[in-house]
Amino acid sequence: MFETEKFSLVGNNLFLDFVNTEKARDGQPFETLESFADFVAWTVAVDLITREQAADLFEKWSGQISTVKFLQETINFRNDLRNLAENISGKVEISEKTIDSINERLKKQSGFTVLEKVENGFEKLFRFDLSDPLKLLHPIAEAVADFLCYANFDFLRKCESAACVLFFYDTTKNHKRRWCSMKACGNQAKAAAFYKRKKQAAEN
Ligand SMILES: [Zn+2]
Repeated sequence: MFETEKFSLVGNNLFLDFVNTEKARDGQPFETLESFADFVAWTVAVDLITREQAADLFEKWSGQISTVKFLQETINFRNDLRNLAENISGKVEISEKTIDSINERLKKQSGFTVLEKVENGFEKLFRFDLSDPLKLLHPIAEAVADFLCYANFDFLRKCESAACVLFFYDTTKNHKRRWCSMKACGNQAKAAAFYKRKKQAAEN
């Protein structure tokens, strides 16, 4: 029931993969988070929870919360983060309002650390608190906070295809990545350039 194929996980970063839940199809915005089940599927796709957990949690949460309200809140947060990504790539100053929106999520702790005795000493383990689906927005907020603190803003790029809205963090060695993916946009652009050259050659 949790369909994960429609998500474009090309961001190289949890924050950008979340932003990329809004895509484009034929140049029009295309929403992949159409239902609460879609959001749960996305959290499976990015490995926040397992597929087995998802089935149980979906049923539990559906009986506990207004999934419509939750989805709206999630999409509002996503839209704030899309603006943020636009602003970073456009070198526009980040507003206090955006920082407040992230801090609002950071406040809601998503779990706790437990100490466990293991064979050769001790180990610290993180236990995800999944009592409420809003907790799942917390790791995304953490990813944004880490990005703002530690990432190189120059490597946040939008796919160069004019019809595409996907963002990615360019971790390639030469930092010359231009497309969300070669398959989706890169090959199309290459084919278009090839035909243009061929046409020009024919005209000359
Ligand atoms: Zn693209």
